[in-house]
Amino acid sequence: MATPLVPPMALASVYTFADVDGLDRAYGATPPDFTYCRDGHPNARFLSDALTKWHGGAWGQVFPSGMAAIGAVLLPLVKAGSRVIASDQLYGKTTHLLVGELSRFGVTTTRVDTNHLPAVKAALAAAPEPAVLLVETVSNPLCRVADVPALADLVHATGAKLVVDNTFASPVLCKPLAFGADVVMESLTKIIGGHGDTMLGFLSGSDPDLGARVTATASTWGYHAAPFDCWLTARGLDTLDLRVKAAAANSVRAADWLVGKPGVLQVVFPTRPDHPDHALARRILPAGPGHVFAVELAGGRDGVNRFLRAAGADLPFAPSLGHANSTISYPDAASHRNMPVAEKLAMGITPGLIRISIGSEPFEQLAAALGKGLNGI
Ligand code: PLP
Repeated sequence: MATPLVPPMALASVYTFADVDGLDRAYGATPPDFTYCRDGHPNARFLSDALTKWHGGAWGQVFPSGMAAIGAVLLPLVKAGSRVIASDQLYGKTTHLLVGELSRFGVTTTRVDTNHLPAVKAALAAAPEPAVLLVETVSNPLCRVADVPALADLVHATGAKLVVDNTFASPVLCKPLAFGADVVMESLTKIIGGHGDTMLGFLSGSDPDLGARVTATASTWGYHAAPFDCWLTARGLDTLDLRVKAAAANSVRAADWLVGKPGVLQVVFPTRPDHPDHALARRILPAGPGHVFAVELAGGRDGVNRFLRAAGADLPFAPSLGHANSTISYPDAASHRNMPVAEKLAMGITPGLIRISIGSEPFEQLAAALGKGLNGI
């Protein structure tokens, strides 16, 4: 039979076998043959293999969401009494998973400024059982850049594991495993999916033993990634490099374009010389820090509302990122909604701060939409 150019979609939830010996052979194969879709299916494996290769990992696994992936790497690494050291700049829900959920199982979290390496070293030294250091390559939403090689050295001196959420960068711009991270995580819902119509997450790592424990966790806790979402996301991989580079180039131009415009108080993006990680970003993300940045608008929340209403459908207010066309989010009420106000302000999430996810539309179209919004302030 001729081979299809693209992978077919395999929707079966279960596979059939001629006899018990056949089932045993399926479980015993390397990698295991498909038996039950919670344990794996062709579309998840196709997607996972492609992303694992891209990241240079020894193992990979697809999850139903980015949050599921973060949970699935933490579960096998922690136990009651363990300490997680986490960046104080993480996506709000990740912080909540650590502080609001894992704490109920006796796992404590220390949040530190991971751009201050002595503070990280001190937090690791102070922890009785440091298990994990969790950082984002480029943080949500203030684009703080993680010095992954330096953090990996500090973490490995203690026997803990470095887990890097690479969602803002994607493997096109950064491969944290090559810098010494133990595990890389991607929310595939964002620019890797890229079209605003799927929800998935992904983990890859360098240690096959940890990979086996993550896979067992995924099956036992029921982290099943739907075949259709895997199929759609795999389809998007063909254009990922193009999309990420186009959006990254648009972002540099958009950030520069916004600086000094009426209504714009600050543009927060590492390509700008006033960003605290301007130099670090060139080392960790030489092809650019990605497609997401933050802008402080005049007039606080009212100013943001006026901007959004004026921009309208030309620049949709959609609390996610990584869509093919540019979208706006509002960290104060979306990604960091449940965080105490004082913590948000300490992070730099003010009532006037919007997060822009730049797409790969023509720059003139994007600039016109941004201008329309600014005119409304
Ligand atoms: N990590 C980062 C940096 C994110 O921005 C998000 C979602 O916004 C996630 C993880 C969670 O991913 P998902 O929404 O696919 O669960």
